[in-house]
Amino acid sequence: MTSKKALDALNRLMSGNAEYLKANVAEGDISPDLRERLCDEGQEPYAIVVTCSDSRVVPEDIFMCGLGELFVIRVAGNVIGQTQAASVLYAIEHLGAPLVMVLGHTHCGAVGAVLEGHAEDALRPLCDPIKNAIGNVCDPERASALNAMAATEELRRIASIASMERRGELLVIPALYRIDSGRVELLVEDCV
Ligand SMILES: [Zn+2]
Repeated sequence: MTSKKALDALNRLMSGNAEYLKANVAEGDISPDLRERLCDEGQEPYAIVVTCSDSRVVPEDIFMCGLGELFVIRVAGNVIGQTQAASVLYAIEHLGAPLVMVLGHTHCGAVGAVLEGHAEDALRPLCDPIKNAIGNVCDPERASALNAMAATEELRRIASIASMERRGELLVIPALYRIDSGRVELLVEDCV
């Protein structure tokens, strides 16, 4: 059974996204008071979001969050390499975040590059994991979803993450952000 803390974090993200769908401006708290408090007391983000560097995919806006709420790891194609995995582990173990969301998105350039067969050597650290994740799938949206799900599984290969999830202390969940509608869709049938 997933902990209440993890489920509360997921609900908080999804209700933030529901607000975002109706909003014209970001409303997260960025006030000097909060800045000072976070400096004095330290951060305790309630969720870790691993997502793409795409300029249209801004987690703090998508979930209507302010300072200190999200621990965000962004890399083109939201792939999990060693530094991304270590960043996630740090936030789980040292900052106590109970939820990891891997947020892929529609119209992802990195996924598109793989689908179009671009294979420059310099891009291989990004393209190889995406290629492995999507196999022969040609539909870009399905490919982005598979890529987010593969990144989730990559995180679960880390023993401490897998065991925390088994004990219900952590939830690792893939999701897809639609860059046109702004909606975040969970890529699991049942996360509890
Ligand atoms: Zn992308």
